[in-house]
Amino acid sequence: MSLEPMSPDEVRARLARLQSDDLPTHGGRTLAYVYDGGLADVDRLGREAVAAYAATNGLDPTAFPSVLTLENEVVGRTCDLLDAPASTVGTVTSGGTESVLLAVQGARDARGDLREAGVRPRMVLPSTIHAAFLKAAHYYDVEAVVVPVGADFRADVDAMRAAVEADPHRTVLVAVSAPSYAHGVVDPVAEVAAVAAAHGVRCHVDACIGGWVLPYARRLGRAVPPWTFEVEGVTSISVDLHKYAYAPKGTSVLLHRTPALRRPQYFANADWPGYTMLNTTLQSTKSGGPLAGAWAVLNAIGDDGYLDLTRRVLDGVDTVVAAVRDLDGLALVAPPDSTLLALAADGSCDVFTVADELAELDWLAQPQLTHAGRPPTLHLSLSAATDATGLVAALRTAVAAARERGPVRIDPDVVAFVAALDPATLGDEELDGLLAALGLAAGADGGAPALPERMGEVNALLDLASPRLREALLTAFLDRLARPVRLAPADPAESGG
Ligand SMILES: *Cc1c(COP(=O)(O)O)cnc(C)c1O
Repeated sequence: MSLEPMSPDEVRARLARLQSDDLPTHGGRTLAYVYDGGLADVDRLGREAVAAYAATNGLDPTAFPSVLTLENEVVGRTCDLLDAPASTVGTVTSGGTESVLLAVQGARDARGDLREAGVRPRMVLPSTIHAAFLKAAHYYDVEAVVVPVGADFRADVDAMRAAVEADPHRTVLVAVSAPSYAHGVVDPVAEVAAVAAAHGVRCHVDACIGGWVLPYARRLGRAVPPWTFEVEGVTSISVDLHKYAYAPKGTSVLLHRTPALRRPQYFANADWPGYTMLNTTLQSTKSGGPLAGAWAVLNAIGDDGYLDLTRRVLDGVDTVVAAVRDLDGLALVAPPDSTLLALAADGSCDVFTVADELAELDWLAQPQLTHAGRPPTLHLSLSAATDATGLVAALRTAVAAARERGPVRIDPDVVAFVAALDPATLGDEELDGLLAALGLAAGADGGAPALPERMGEVNALLDLASPRLREALLTAFLDRLARPVRLAPADPAESGG
């Protein structure tokens, strides 16, 4: 069976039809995953640049010197924004997770003494740190020492200090957020960085989501405590361009205060018969497309443009915050320091039903499940393109409908059943059964499952599950989703066990 060529029109039509099932990337109603500046011309320019550079390879800057120039200019722009001293250097990566992975890997590998002694490195993290750090801990075998945050959801300085001082020698990194994804608040960066500096430990600020907002918020006269390289003890910062710089997907910047701090991030290998492999990131061959897209968008928007976009999105946040304060049913979990809101329900409704009702109105909010004894919330990342008045109206309608319906009720037998499940011992058959019971069995055609019309029940059930059980179930779900679409049926006799 062979792959018959499609005509260009067929290719375009098929892609367009497939994309029509996706959430809208523009319009400001998708309040997670995507960020829309609402500037159609800039967007088009960004895409043109991605396309123009799609085939280039950032692997070798001597072969594609223009890619190096674009990277150095984007890094320079980021340095300007984040009060970086002249010594600061950086790297453009594929996204926030890659920036975080490299920050952790570099911190680990800077400590050859620990490696030689066979001692496992550790890093101290507030419990609200992005899960990318836990992925890094997993990949690089760095112990994650997770410290509970205070009642205000910010890193607890005394607890962070105690955690560092419990074993300063083995501590290779301390990290904080500006702001945290889940609650939208900025950690006490200066205080935590001082703790790290006192012990000669690196301090990374994860500003993946706030790094392109907070400096402009400050210029607009809003209260933003110091968190950039202005703070002495900060050694590295990550900022995603594909979030609030409104660049196309696929770029983040990782800055280090000095080249020496960045050095262990680099990988070189000349010990094979091919080219000497020199890599600055996890990727080796690396499209110049996303970088060129980000460069185009940064330059097209400029400082005044970002100031304006930041004013718009923060005005929107103010509008939603004021409305939620007057709204029975939902409450802010913490006053937002940036563009992210976390809302909790008061018992007259639940956040999962509110999310379903919002979806009915074509607004996507992201449920965040119970964690560390704290109730589930609804996450809203506003964009400059978000119509805050429209969002407020939708929230009012959704909450009224959710109160009318009442919270999702789960049968006590099911609650007991879920509580008794041990994720470590669940086999594939049981997982298949559980997924089917949740309405999450994969489609027979290898495509996405027809998800339940309303996700409230699924979310309410997942909310009862432990983090380990959620991981097991959703990993099984993802595994079932990822099945090749074959033209020729493969011989099942040849498949492995
Ligand atoms: C989005 C985000 C990340 C991870 O970034 P990706 O681009 O999704 O890989 C890390 N930290 C924070 C605070 C984020 O908001």
